[in-house]
Amino acid sequence: MPQIGCKCPVCTSADPRDRRRRCGAYVTTEKVAFLVDTPPEMRLACVEYGIDRVDAICLTHAHMDHVAGFDDVRRFNTLNGGVPMRCFAMQETIDQMHRIFPYITDKKNSMGLFRPMINFVSNEKAFTIGDVGVERLDVEHSFPCCGYMFTAPDGATIAYICDCHVLPEKTVARLEGVDVLVLNCLRERPHPTHLSLESSLGYIDRIRPGRAYLVHMCHDLSHRDFLERLPKGVEPAYDGLVLDIQKGDNA
Ligand SMILES: [Zn+2]
Ligand SMILES: [Zn+2]
Ligand SMILES: [Zn+2]
Repeated sequence: MPQIGCKCPVCTSADPRDRRRRCGAYVTTEKVAFLVDTPPEMRLACVEYGIDRVDAICLTHAHMDHVAGFDDVRRFNTLNGGVPMRCFAMQETIDQMHRIFPYITDKKNSMGLFRPMINFVSNEKAFTIGDVGVERLDVEHSFPCCGYMFTAPDGATIAYICDCHVLPEKTVARLEGVDVLVLNCLRERPHPTHLSLESSLGYIDRIRPGRAYLVHMCHDLSHRDFLERLPKGVEPAYDGLVLDIQKGDNA
């Protein structure tokens, strides 16, 4: 947001928190740094927030609003000295990425880094990126899609689910007691492939995270509108929001 050509109060809002780029996240510890998704504005966001290190990528799914910035990973290949970058995703997503970006390679390019050097890895089994434990979370989005549970070295947990309309019971059970839950919420009205405000809050009520943040909102509601509608412990996320996750956030 703003949407192209839209004059609605949210798209024309003066509140900087109402300028919403497509969803993505950057996870760092003292040892490691990685991206969750590579949305269309990834390069602009990396420049704005001074991000100069990416060791790996976790993809949620291959919808364009989450992967269209993938070509810019080339720059991180250069910064990493030409080492192929690990990119974790569902096997279906990996297959889609090869179709969308057929020029991606895991080989060193003969004429410089004019295409991303990527080692795609299935996220089916739990894995680690540096000192962060990562588990895939199954979700329903009418498209191959997943969320992620990240566990910090001190045991603190953050779950990131940017696109879904249903959370399977197994995922709800896994999420119970998570320190921080990032969950999508498109708008108040129901949508066939995204959670609405009521359905997001229903899941948050069952999961009881220490804190929850809503992402992937459309222009129906402003940041201020969300603040008025949300219970204590739930907030709308905004571009540039930094979360410091500590063990015991859910004490
Ligand atoms: Zn609008
Ligand atoms: Zn999607
Ligand atoms: Zn999306």
